[in-house]
Formats: sequence, C-alpha cells, structure tokens
Amino acid sequence: MPTGLKPGPDRGPIDMTQPQWRAVAGARTVLLASPRSFCAGVERAIDVVEQLLRERGAPVYVRKQIVHNTHVIRDLTARGAVFVEELDEVPDGAVVVFSAHGVSPMVRQEAVRRGLDAVDATCPLVTKVHNEARRFARRNDTIILIGHAGHEEVEGTLGQAPEHTILVEHVSDVADLEIPDPARVSYLTQTTLATDATMTVVDALRERFPRLRGPASDDICYATTNRQDALRAIAEESELVLVVGSVNSSNSVRLVELARRQNIPAYLIDDVLGIQPQWLAGVGVIGLTAGASAPPQLLHRVLEALAELGPLTVEGRTVARETVHFAPPSSITARHKPHSDALEQEER
Ligand code: SF4
Repeated sequence: MPTGLKPGPDRGPIDMTQPQWRAVAGARTVLLASPRSFCAGVERAIDVVEQLLRERGAPVYVRKQIVHNTHVIRDLTARGAVFVEELDEVPDGAVVVFSAHGVSPMVRQEAVRRGLDAVDATCPLVTKVHNEARRFARRNDTIILIGHAGHEEVEGTLGQAPEHTILVEHVSDVADLEIPDPARVSYLTQTTLATDATMTVVDALRERFPRLRGPASDDICYATTNRQDALRAIAEESELVLVVGSVNSSNSVRLVELARRQNIPAYLIDDVLGIQPQWLAGVGVIGLTAGASAPPQLLHRVLEALAELGPLTVEGRTVARETVHFAPPSSITARHKPHSDALEQEER
C-alpha cells in the first residue's frame, strides 16, 4: 500500500538546510520494537475492501473508518472506497463493509432492512467479545464492559446486550456501580486497552463483587498485548519514544501512555512529517514502534529520515513472533451472496 507521503523540497521531513534540523544532527541508535504495525485483524479488514474494489469496482461503501489510520483511509479513498458514518448515507442495494471494530445488531438489522449487500470485516477477536456479551446476558448477568466511551468497538459491544451492560472506563468508576444482583456480574473488555491498567480495574471489580466472572481467555487481544510488551522491553533504554499511528487509534495511544508512565518522553506521529526537531535535541537513543493499524512503510520512512541526521544504528528487539492469520469472511471466499454476512451474524 502506498504511504500517501509526498516528500519534496517543501515537505521533506528532515530538511538539513534548516537550522533547527542541523542543530540536532548527530549519530543515533533506534531500538525497534517487535511486534509492531499491522495485526491480523487490520490486514484482513483492508484486504476485504481491496478485494471488493477489485471484484466489484468503485464505489465500495465502508461504515466508519475500516481501521483507525489516516493513511489507510486516504489510500483506499483514492481507489474508490467511500467512508460513511451511518448506513443512511449508503444507497439502497449497495455494497457496504462493516469495519474491523464491529457493529451492534441494530446496524446489521438496518442493513438487512435496507437491502444492503453487507460484508462484515469485524475482527474475529472483536466478534469473540460480542459472542461473550450475548452469552453472559443469556445467563442473566450484569456485564461490566471495561472500555472507552464513544469508541466504535465499545459501541458495537454495548449493542450486543444493551439492557445488561454497563460501561466502566476508570477504576474510580467501580465504587459507584449499582448492580441489581451482585452475585451475577461478569466483565468484558475492549480489545485494545492497556493491559496493566485494565487488571487494576478487574481487581477492583473482584474486590466489590467476589463472584465476578470473566471471559475464558483475555479480551485484550494478542496484538495489543504483544505491542505493549515489545515497547516495555525497549522503553527503559530509550530517551525518546516515537509511536507511529493515528490519534483515533486506541492501541497506538495506549503505547504512548505506556512510555510516558515510565517517564520517557513519547509522541504519537501519523507519519515522518510529525517529527519535531526539538524532540531530538540531546537524544541518542530513540525507541520506535507502530500501532496495529499503522502501515509498516510509514515506520520505514521514519528510519530513512532519521538517517539523514547522521549515522543511524538500528537494533531490533523482538519479544514475540506473530503467526496469527485470519481467514477472509465467508462471503468473500465464496462467491459473495447479498446480505449473507448480516444474516449469518444475526443467526448466531
Ligand atoms: S488490534 Fe486486535 S482486536 Fe483489533 S483488529 Fe487487531 S487483532 Fe483484532
């Protein structure tokens, strides 16, 4: 995928004719966190849109950003994807893709009612949380969903069992919870939270509700956990941490917060153009990573730009090897049948 960057005389990320860049020239080391960048759910969701564009041609409508990255959205838009906020912006009968963050059953029902040809690119690990929400609701539990209000994934999960689910964002929210039956409480989490902060909330919930039940396996996904572990492994040795990712990317923002909690200056950059020369003053070791929705090419451009400042040593640090791959949605592998994804999900 092209990065959408247009380096040139005016937009060159690091312009050594400018005094602010010359002032921070020098040899540096970059500690490169691994795993970083695209996860299996993001790759699958982008593949879905690309395949539909190839097979059906433009326009392919996508409800919400397919993944939270401005470069991905810009690239797919240029190729004919049309990103909309809600289904009422999609013409009757058109193809519409549900984003990796998932949707509530009401959105699926609306797609069926409108006769839309819905293709579901929800990450299977988000679908797992949806299925847990419906299962916990069937056993009549109150579900505490730990997550960030307004995030699309949280909206979709809340919608699975709205009458049963309460959103909790911070550990301080736990004391005020009013639960009809404290013996029947379960928790779920957004997939892209900070692992350590989330455990603090779960511990507080367990203290208040000793019979608290949770998912059989962690809802915070492997990609989020691995990227946080990888950054933890390099943060202490870094004098500055740069995270490539967009501001609405939850897992990217969590990486910045993680570094800052260790008192390391850390910044989120959409791409190489976001680097400010003053961040580099007196810095010899930079920790570099990218959120799960950030294309790997963006990070390569950061390395190329830093090398313009002087000799650059790049040390990779790998904490885990990722082999996860998700099969495409069934309606993409088979010849696509109208409404099939929306109906399949409804029947679960
Ligand atoms: S970050 Fe995790 S839950 Fe989100 S798309 Fe990637 S694998 Fe799926």
